[in-house]
Parts: sequence; C-alpha cells; structure tokens
Amino acid sequence: MIEEVKKKVVNMYHEQKLAHAYLFVTNNIDKALIDILEIIKQIFCPEKYNEECNKCNICNLINQQYLPSLVIIKPDGKTIKKEQILELKKQFSTKPIYTKENIYIIKNAECLNAASANTMLKFLEEPEDDIIGFFITNNVNNVINTIKSRCEIINLFYDRSVLEINTIDNEENYKHYEVAKDYLRKIMVEKKDGIMYNNSDLLNIFSEREDIKKVFQILVLIFEELLKYKYNLDNQFNKVNLDFLVDLDKYKIIEKINLLNEFLDNLNSNANLELLLDRFVIEMS
Ligand SMILES: [Zn+2]
Repeated sequence: MIEEVKKKVVNMYHEQKLAHAYLFVTNNIDKALIDILEIIKQIFCPEKYNEECNKCNICNLINQQYLPSLVIIKPDGKTIKKEQILELKKQFSTKPIYTKENIYIIKNAECLNAASANTMLKFLEEPEDDIIGFFITNNVNNVINTIKSRCEIINLFYDRSVLEINTIDNEENYKHYEVAKDYLRKIMVEKKDGIMYNNSDLLNIFSEREDIKKVFQILVLIFEELLKYKYNLDNQFNKVNLDFLVDLDKYKIIEKINLLNEFLDNLNSNANLELLLDRFVIEMS
C-alpha cells in the first residue's frame, strides 16, 4: 500500500504530471518523512535508485540532509514561523544545482500559523516550474484551508504499533525489552548456536504467544529508531544502547524491519511458533 503510493508519486514525476505541492495526511509523521525522502531519492538518483543505492552523491547528500536543493522545515517550538518560510524563499531564489527542482518539505503543516501560511501561499500561488513542495500533517483539520486547497492530498496511513519507543522500558515492558535486546545480540553477534537461541533465550523465558509478540514489536521499534538515526532525524536510538547495529546500512535495516513484520503477521495467523522462529533466525542471519 505505502509502496504503491510512493511508486505513484515517482511515476507522476517522470510523466511530468507532478503537482507543485502535495499534502501527505498520515498517522505517523516520522515514517512519512522517511518515505518522502525515499521518493525524492527515487526521483533524482542518477543510478536509477534501487534499495541498495546509498552510494551516489545525491542519495548520500539526502541521507546526510546536506542536499542544497532540499529544505526540511520543522516547527520551531509549537509553530512554523514566518521567518522560516522567508528563509526558504531566499534559499530557493537561486536555481537548483544537483537536482532539476528545488524541493521543500514542511513537517507538521498544521503548525503553520496565519503569518507563515500567508507567506507560504505566495509560493503556492505562483508555482514556479522548478519547485516541488511536500507538506506532512497528522492533523489535517488544523491545516489552514488556503494551504490545503492548493495541495493535492495523499493519504499515508501506517499500521499502528501498540507499543511506543517511550514506553518500551517502563515497568510493564521492561522484561520483554531486556529479552529482546539479549536475543537480538545472540542472533546477530554471537550467531554460533543459530536456532538454539530460540529455546535458550526466548521460549525458556516466555511461553505465551502474546509475550513473544511483544518482544518482536519491541524489535521493530528498535530498528525503526535505528532507521531514523541513519536519516539524522529525531530518534531515541542511543537510549537502546545496541552499538553493534550502528554499521547496518539502510537497506539492511529496512530488510530487517520487513522480516520482523512478516514474522508478526504470521504469528497472528496461528502458524507453528517454533517453526516461525527457526525460519526467522535463519533469515535474519
Ligand atoms: Zn542514488
């Protein structure tokens, strides 16, 4: 679903049907931002971007958030200030260098106040051919109407995880969190006992499916924070304290997140738990 949306936007660009501004309505601002950065890479990567491309100059600059033609605006405190939009206009008064268009992303578009939205409107009313705008919001009702009406709206809804990174080490989750970290370290660093870790480090501690599910949900959160860290976005990866993961590249991280989600899907479908775990460990390492 999300992949289809991304592909659609990339195709619209290549067919020269891209609008000047899009408003992404989402339930997860951070994930939406990462997906929009992926869209931008897919559009501009000279290597015909594939998931492994973190090598070309454009993809690297986007990863480091140093691409001069890409500006990401986040709320300064509770609002996006007029000065931030004026600064953006100034930056975009010159032609883009590395990419064909200048691109801006407004994170939390609902935080544009009357003054900054007014300044923004000039951009949207006199669309120049070489500027593309992406607005992201998780509160579409609070986005000023004049902005909303000038954007094409795209929905990006993600499966909600019941757990959140802020709560993974609280009293209720602490044991699962510790088990998740130990288990991960065993299967990714020690490796020597392979699928035996499923018994020694998981099933001997938790026998209920719900507990295993929680351990894996925590693992998903850990990799998601790692992905944000890799994109220099606000993250709490340092809190997790799993240094051996830091060298994984983004492609590998996304691959792991997919494996974990696949495991969780299968877990819900009543498949045999031991078999699922064995397959998971083999695919993970
Ligand atoms: Zn590239």
